[in-house]
Amino acid sequence: MTALTNLPPTAELQRLDAAHHLHPFTHGAGLRDKGVRVITSADGVWLTDSEGNRILDAMAGLWCVNIGYGRQELVEAAAAQMAELPFYNTFFQTSHVPAIKLAERLAQLAPDHLNHVFFASSGSEANDTNIRLVRTYWEMKGQPQKKAIISRWNAYHGSSVGSGSLGGMKGMHAQGGMPIPDIHHIDQPDWWSEGGDMTPEDFGRARAKLLEDKILEIGADNVAAFIAEPVQGAGGVIVPPETYWPEVQKIVDKYGILLIADEVICGFGRTGNWFGSETVGIRPDIMTVAKGMSSGYQPIGGSIVSDEIADVIGGGEFNHGYTYSGHPVACAVALENLRLLDEEGIVDRVRDHTAPYLKQKFESLTDHPMVGEAKIVGMMGSIALTPHKESRAAFKADAGTVGLICRERCFANNLVMRHVGDRMIVSPSLTISDDEIDTLIERARTSLDEAMAEVEKQGLMEPAEA
Ligand SMILES: *Cc1c(COP(=O)(O)O)cnc(C)c1O
Repeated sequence: MTALTNLPPTAELQRLDAAHHLHPFTHGAGLRDKGVRVITSADGVWLTDSEGNRILDAMAGLWCVNIGYGRQELVEAAAAQMAELPFYNTFFQTSHVPAIKLAERLAQLAPDHLNHVFFASSGSEANDTNIRLVRTYWEMKGQPQKKAIISRWNAYHGSSVGSGSLGGMKGMHAQGGMPIPDIHHIDQPDWWSEGGDMTPEDFGRARAKLLEDKILEIGADNVAAFIAEPVQGAGGVIVPPETYWPEVQKIVDKYGILLIADEVICGFGRTGNWFGSETVGIRPDIMTVAKGMSSGYQPIGGSIVSDEIADVIGGGEFNHGYTYSGHPVACAVALENLRLLDEEGIVDRVRDHTAPYLKQKFESLTDHPMVGEAKIVGMMGSIALTPHKESRAAFKADAGTVGLICRERCFANNLVMRHVGDRMIVSPSLTISDDEIDTLIERARTSLDEAMAEVEKQGLMEPAEA
């Protein structure tokens, strides 16, 4: 553990942070009033902050530390690669061993027909690559008018101008001139909030049908691709009804539209298989990967593309690339991470043991009076908070008010659970033990009780007007 005595006092760190550090997705005023929590070290699923608190991280950082914190093998892989070759680029007909080996390994792990990798340093960059890649593919095939990309409201595909445009976060689109042209959004398969009187099965088919409607509206000749997360993550862990994906696959096949599976969260064991595409039974033409690929120990992402796309793109020059595409240190760390996930049987154990155990415990939260549904796939789950279960009502307060109260209680109980609107999310490291899952659920229950007391005190335990 870190010698806390060497740290400046927390108040001083907070003051400096507020003075000089602009944070992503954080309200400035709230940050200045309360002060940041400063994380100083981590081990397994446990974080330590500058006050010496031990916090159970039920989010694996930002959905990425699949292997858990503190793996010395990854530290050594980074150090060895830095000593050997800290950087070289992959532009202009050069390569290096870590990029070559990682590309080979990803091709082995990915579904059969996906055998080619274009590297980036993040999910956002990889999805920006995908925008240009699918359009360039159709141009090289003599169909330059096939430019439109269809995505979904409340999808998350990153925060750069391109990937943020692909995403369907209205709050993001409202700032800084997004979306870019030729991106279209259809409604998401969120039965709890939007399913009305339909059965989940009918609703899943109806939401898939929206893709066909949109293709016909734009004209199939103008549509390049459909992009989606197999299971939406940042949107609130929205698990689609089982009828959804089979219909979507039929539709993209019928109209000759490329399917991009954004596997940035779902990939590398999160859903109980190596990729979410296996879990939901789809056959994407491109998979976006990042986060769990290196368990967050190094920033790396990429696009794993089909033989067909690689053939077409390889017929010319793709005028695209990042200085750090295939960064050797990031590749070496990712390779070591994938080796451990495989050789230690971590992904298999998730499927056979950890995910079923977490599911059973997590779903038991639905007996709490403020929890409507619990949805979980593999190691990503969410509960919907509601003042009235039968009607699946929203709270009379603005969306997210109750979620935030609940998250604050989790924080106070040394549990990191995230809220998206009024859903509470978990996405722990795949290596979490059964005892730690028990602790997670206990702390979540305590936090829900405390949150509900607060919600009642504020008079918010009431359904919104319909
Ligand atoms: C996090 C995320 C991204 C963006 O990845 P960054 O590394 O933050 O740029 C893209 N897609 C999905 C599904 C994500 O969860």
